[in-house]
Amino acid sequence: MAVAKVVIDVAAAAIDSLFDYEIPENLEGSVQPGVRVIVPFGPRKVMGFVTELTNGSQFESLKEIISVMDHTPVLTNELLDLSKWLQEETLCYRISAMQAMLPAAFKAKYKKEVWLLADEDELPDVWKIAAEGREVFPFEELEKHQIPASQVTRMVQEGLIDVKYSVKGKNRIKKDTYIELAVGEHELLLAIEDLGSQAKKQRLILEFFSKKPQPILLNDLIKKLQTTKSPIDQLIDKRILKRVKKEVYRDPYQKNTTERTKPLSLTEQQQSAIEPIHTSIDEKRHEVFLLHGVTGSGKTEIYLQSIQRVMDEGKEAIVLVPEISLTPQMVTRFKERFGGEVAVLHSALSQGEKYDEWRKIQRKEVSVVVGARSAVFAPFENLGIIIIDEEHETSYKQEDYPKYHAREVAKYRGRVHQCPVVLGSATPTLESYARASKDVYTLLELKDRVNDQDLPRIEIVDMRTELEKGNRSMFSESLTEKIQDRLDKNEQIVLLLNRRGYSSFVMCRECGETIQCEHCDISMTYHQRQHKLKCHYCNAERGMPKTCPNCESDAIRFFGTGTQKVEEALKTQFEKARVIRMDVDTTSRKGAHEKLLGQFGRGEADILLGTQMIAKGLDFKNVTLVGVIAADSMLHLPDFRASERSFQLLTQVSGRAGRHELPGEVVVQTYTPDHYSVVLASEYDFEGFFQREMNFRKQVGYPPYYFMVLINLSHENHVQVNQMANELANELAKNLSQESILLGPTPSPMLRIKDRYRYQCMIKYKRKEEVDYALRSVLEHFKKEVNQNKLQMTIDFDPYYFM
Ligand code: ADP
Ligand code: ZN
Ligand code: ZN
Repeated sequence: MAVAKVVIDVAAAAIDSLFDYEIPENLEGSVQPGVRVIVPFGPRKVMGFVTELTNGSQFESLKEIISVMDHTPVLTNELLDLSKWLQEETLCYRISAMQAMLPAAFKAKYKKEVWLLADEDELPDVWKIAAEGREVFPFEELEKHQIPASQVTRMVQEGLIDVKYSVKGKNRIKKDTYIELAVGEHELLLAIEDLGSQAKKQRLILEFFSKKPQPILLNDLIKKLQTTKSPIDQLIDKRILKRVKKEVYRDPYQKNTTERTKPLSLTEQQQSAIEPIHTSIDEKRHEVFLLHGVTGSGKTEIYLQSIQRVMDEGKEAIVLVPEISLTPQMVTRFKERFGGEVAVLHSALSQGEKYDEWRKIQRKEVSVVVGARSAVFAPFENLGIIIIDEEHETSYKQEDYPKYHAREVAKYRGRVHQCPVVLGSATPTLESYARASKDVYTLLELKDRVNDQDLPRIEIVDMRTELEKGNRSMFSESLTEKIQDRLDKNEQIVLLLNRRGYSSFVMCRECGETIQCEHCDISMTYHQRQHKLKCHYCNAERGMPKTCPNCESDAIRFFGTGTQKVEEALKTQFEKARVIRMDVDTTSRKGAHEKLLGQFGRGEADILLGTQMIAKGLDFKNVTLVGVIAADSMLHLPDFRASERSFQLLTQVSGRAGRHELPGEVVVQTYTPDHYSVVLASEYDFEGFFQREMNFRKQVGYPPYYFMVLINLSHENHVQVNQMANELANELAKNLSQESILLGPTPSPMLRIKDRYRYQCMIKYKRKEEVDYALRSVLEHFKKEVNQNKLQMTIDFDPYYFM
């Protein structure tokens, strides 16, 4: 009996294992590891992933699989194994790990469609009837005509048809005609010899294909060779060329693909940094590199040339960049070098667009993916390198289940494929740098900027003395002077305001009342566009009150976002300055980032004012001044990484100035000018900061000296969750040795979210096995409460948020 092991699409502890199903005869050949199937589960029909096929089962009277959803596996064997690893590593449900690897479109409502790739004559008769002359038709037609699933799978495997999901609302199905060779290289040469002397155009076309034997758009071919359709048609009649239809993907970056860039000749420093990477590629050996290079030192060129090396060997590359909608310039650099070989995956794309990009990878139509965190799951099967740019970015850690860190997944895949993993940053995390100093990673350094430009000089301004001098403006004397100077010289300015620490909350000026969310312990945030208050934790909304709910005064105001206030101040103080503001308000619409940055790049504004989102990756020739309005707003967060983050941010933003011929300058305004993260960032002393911060981490026992895991409990009943938190701590203490340190239980810094009360425990540990054991026993202990949906428990390894 043919049996499939299936992971059921229900995220619950009781269901988090493999279930055996019998494969009915009509589905044999279609049910393969990595496809999704519909199976009976209790009274319901549910979706599930097939993980493996076996002969027979230890269970009797198995239920049968009802139908298959995919005719091409959506998860490769490697990704199936990886989902198992993630399940064990992060203590998540296997199904959550699997879902995380696939584009969200798979979860949406979609129509299944059949696409004919071959000419109709090549199809069996019943298919012609089902197709009714259409090139794309609903999958149900096949079922109506009782075409067996196994036949569908076979036709997909032979490339005659494809089955595609059309994501709802995005029904812009379009196909283009391509011309490609119908013969091999040898036959092509013979065909060219056979051409008569009059057939000049045909010769031109075939010679073109002998140089570039890839499929090409019919229209491009006509344009490029300045020919007409008829010689092409003649070659098709002779069966030397053939016409193929390919779907046109939605590609928001297509416009950038015209001119290709050539590899730059590397500087000496770049050369010695890239050599070990090339060696690792050539020797097919897994190795983790930490590429520590100051801003503007040419890290990206190293990525590009390493990828080229990998592509030359016919292998594939994954490049992770932090939320890349923020750095369209970065995407463009990859597109310009590798053209259509690049797929782009990031959160600003629509579901349909993401699905299209993912399919290019699945169908091996590209060999490079540039994307945000989840692109680390790109279903390549022949990986040659994984690159993580700005490796210190916290967005590489996923905050939902599975709570994975992309760096760890990259290392896993690097081991499987025996290929290098490159972590790049001007400000590596302490964890990574510590590993590099112990030779766990190989350290590669770029100490200078390309062309030996100096790093911009950083001036620290003590805002307390400004106040003493009677300057009540947001801008210090020095910054004011320098802004004016750049405006006079027609140079550009970048101003950074840290979003955190400023928020657009509503407060009564009479009594100080703030408007709090009814369900969470937090102030609601004012949204200008809808003139509404929203809670960022539970999405509750309410209208803006006209009078204070406490004292009924009408002096209730919102305190505008930091950036809005700065913008107003700029307008008053520098009347003529043209300002572009970039923050959540001005960039929430799709494409807004690109548009604003484009305007700034073309010199349509003098000042770019923004939050963290402008700190990274931007490269504008004319920027000679960077100002940081309030450097310390992030120093006071309840987070042991506060100093590290603030050092990183200052370094990153300083890197935006003077990247080209014009020298740059940076002014950092702060109320804590003596803090080591401010001082050392202004001296570009990463090594000094590393030593200093490592000392602090050692004293208090934080990473990288200890690993950390945060366990959070939440419940509607405050008294009960308090009790359970004590049970949690006791249960943990039973199973932990002296080597681990248990902190808590304590109420979470945000005690209540969505009407649930929250408590937490933290474990600092050295050995993961020990903690895993303790946590599993806790999961067992609270199983009943969790299954009844009363208690929610989250486990977060290597946590980044402690709220
Ligand atoms: P990073 O990623 O380290 O901040 P970039 O890769 O953006 O640095 O490089 C900074 C600038 O230097 C870019 O404009 C890039 O085109 C240029 N550059 C990099 N390598 C070279 C090289 N070998 N020769 C000339 N210019 C280079
Ligand atoms: Zn709320
Ligand atoms: Zn009031």
